[in-house]
Amino acid sequence: MHIAVIGTGYVGLVTGACFAEFGVDVTCVDIDSKKIARLSAGEMPIYEPGLEQLVTKNMQSGRLRFTTDIKQAVEQALVIFLAVGTPPQTDGSPDLSFVEAAARSVAEHMNGYKVIVTKSTVPIGTGEYLRKLIREEQKSRLNFGIVSNPEFLREGAAINDFMRPDRVVLGSRDEEAIAIMRDLYRPLYLMEAPFVLTSLEAAELTKYAANAFLATKISFINEIANLCESIGCDVHDVARAIGMDRRIGSKFLHPGPGFGGSCFPKDTQALASVAREFGRDSMIVDAVIEVNRRQRQAMVPKIEKLVGDLRGKTVAILGLAFKPETNDMREAPAIDIISELLKRGAIVRAYDPVSMKESADVLPEVTYLDDEYEAVTNADALVFVTEWNQFRALDMSRIRDLMKTPKIADLRNIYEPADMRELGFEYIGVGR
Ligand code: NAD
Repeated sequence: MHIAVIGTGYVGLVTGACFAEFGVDVTCVDIDSKKIARLSAGEMPIYEPGLEQLVTKNMQSGRLRFTTDIKQAVEQALVIFLAVGTPPQTDGSPDLSFVEAAARSVAEHMNGYKVIVTKSTVPIGTGEYLRKLIREEQKSRLNFGIVSNPEFLREGAAINDFMRPDRVVLGSRDEEAIAIMRDLYRPLYLMEAPFVLTSLEAAELTKYAANAFLATKISFINEIANLCESIGCDVHDVARAIGMDRRIGSKFLHPGPGFGGSCFPKDTQALASVAREFGRDSMIVDAVIEVNRRQRQAMVPKIEKLVGDLRGKTVAILGLAFKPETNDMREAPAIDIISELLKRGAIVRAYDPVSMKESADVLPEVTYLDDEYEAVTNADALVFVTEWNQFRALDMSRIRDLMKTPKIADLRNIYEPADMRELGFEYIGVGR
């Protein structure tokens, strides 16, 4: 089977590479010609563990190619995935212009029956809207099916999440399209990955509901963490104990500087905007967004409490990306934290294993160093912002000796407070 994937970002590239690995013939299309040139030369535009090997292997086998030629890609493909961005607009609703543009191109170049699949996270009703749009834009009347197949991959673990999903959601009322999608996903079917067949609208809502629920867990545990600080107990004790209840589960109960990334902030806003559109309240989601905004804002005052007046103080930041194992800086807490530190007169030095180039684009005032030890040299405080595994086993005695004053704001609770205090650090975490 030939498929086309339109949009070669995190989702499109992983989708294309993984389907090629399943033995499907894949053409990945993007309007960004520089990205396509880099990919065609075997160079990855993003950092995602295992992706480069998968792309290289499948390009060499001839099953995966990259192009800006959407016409040829659409003509050859039976299934066309739309995996373009849906960034938030100022009112919180997603910008659908990229999806519309991609759908128009598909309509223009259709030469037979096609299954058109939204992988992008889109508002409820987008599938039906695209059906009308494509009908109107078609040159000649050709049949097609519309499927919503939301993507649940996590950056940093994207390939595993695609290859071993908790479930695959397929929303459509088109039986032929569903049969083709089942065939395409056959390797996952054989591995007994659960398939959930729904209406278009239910599939579209599922993606927002899933992300909003996960974001709720994060805001919830952050609220409990703040309460723990006032009570004087450790949020990890509470999180572990509630997480053992299988109805609650232990995942996403890790306190920190608030959620970021390209999905949770955008998708919670979008769900609230969907509720407004349908005349419904979104009280829980609104609270989740507000708790997160406050949590992010509370981090610099926390650091200031530890360090004192920030003017002229040197702060070393370890971790910049919004989470470990990615170089994605979209909506990263580090951006807010560093911007505020700079505004308050601090000098910022930073290190991240993979995202310093991306960070320098948004935070050019920061001095970027080659490793953790260089970053902390002569610093008045060390702030952990992203919980990279390599930060978990640092030589903390060496760090203490390199710093001007041994102070740590551990916004990811990487280290044990008692251990750090024993080593001579003044230490604060989140909710401990
Ligand atoms: P991205 O910004 O990394 O990539 C989007 C790509 O689409 C870009 O390379 C862009 O040049 C390309 N593009 C835009 N318009 C185009 C057009 N008309 N034709 C061809 N290419 C075009 O986005 P992403 O992070 O991969 O997210 C894509 C969608 O998937 C979004 O709706 C997002 O919400 C959703 N999603 C993302 C994740 C994630 O972890 N990043 C997870 C699940 C779902």
